Amino acid sequence: MSKRDYYEVLGVSRTVTEVELKSSFRKLAMQHHPDKNPGDKEAEIKFKEINEAYQILSDGQKRAAYDRFGHQAFENGGGGGPGGGADFSDFMSDIFDSFFGDARRAGPRGANGRERGADLRYNLEIGLEEAFAGKNSTIHVPTSVSCEACSGTGAKPGSKSRQCPTCGGHGRVRANQGFFSVERTCPTCSGRGEIIDDPCKNCQGAGRVTRERTLSVNIPAGVEDGTRIRLAGEGEAGLRGGPAGDLYIFLSIKPHAIFQRDGADLFCRVPIGLVSAALGGEIEVPTLSGEQARVKIPEGTQTGKQFRIKGKGMSVLRSRDVGDLYIQVVVETPQKLTARQRELLEEFERESSQNTHPETAGFFGRVKEFLGGLGGTA
Ligand SMILES: [Zn+2]
Ligand SMILES: [Zn+2]
Repeated sequence: MSKRDYYEVLGVSRTVTEVELKSSFRKLAMQHHPDKNPGDKEAEIKFKEINEAYQILSDGQKRAAYDRFGHQAFENGGGGGPGGGADFSDFMSDIFDSFFGDARRAGPRGANGRERGADLRYNLEIGLEEAFAGKNSTIHVPTSVSCEACSGTGAKPGSKSRQCPTCGGHGRVRANQGFFSVERTCPTCSGRGEIIDDPCKNCQGAGRVTRERTLSVNIPAGVEDGTRIRLAGEGEAGLRGGPAGDLYIFLSIKPHAIFQRDGADLFCRVPIGLVSAALGGEIEVPTLSGEQARVKIPEGTQTGKQFRIKGKGMSVLRSRDVGDLYIQVVVETPQKLTARQRELLEEFERESSQNTHPETAGFFGRVKEFLGGLGGTA
């Protein structure tokens, strides 16, 4: 359903003179007058439509506004100055609501040009230990807050802003283009909905000023890298009494020098000496909480072997669960040997056999087989 063009309703062109307009209105009004058409609903609607069109087009200011903005110009009875009976205004606002009510509710701008403040993002980097234990962090956020001098109105204290005559305070205007009506920001007030003749000096009429706010953020134990924490209402101040936006804390966790995390589990690579790996023994390993744990290394431990320490991993968000700590050993080959060490190792080598190095023996056995196979087919 679309509202008919007022000129079309009155059967006149857009360049119609006042005299022609009046004559056309009289003729149509007589024709569709309820007294002449008792009980005819259609005639009654038509009569109302003719009256409405004439009220607008016969008033110079209203007609100019209508030419510029179409039906939108009379939203809430505003627009071309005072006038338009109560009946008429109600009728108009009903129409407006039925057309645009949902769109207005869905948008960020309320009926009085109120605007919700923007959401803000704050990047916060924490250490793995802090993610493990949880933390209360103090952050400083530059944000817009409502101007104290003018209480957010933007008008100089003591002065008043006036409603924008073009958009009637909505900040948006609609223009009809054929069947479609297009909503756009009001060109007169740039969407504010009001005109400030005497702007507040503290905020230059914006109603908001930039401040650094100090906030306390509670970081729960077990947070993951990339976790977002929402602080409702801690974003930018709203405009003209609109609600404040939200503040989102984006957490990132610094890489740790010793531990790698995988969900609830922690991993740690621990180098051990060649002799310890061969003879076995006990090693001390660190845990994220700071205390040391002991791990038993069996005889003949190879590089890459993993040992699990239960319950020494990462804390789990909103839970009492704790993950595990995996210790992966890396056997370190001795370097920069003294003459005596070299002598001992050489002696050890002479004592070595397939039994002491089954992996090596097995591998070279397979290589020999492989090369022999190649020779056979060549
Ligand atoms: Zn101010
Ligand atoms: Zn405006």
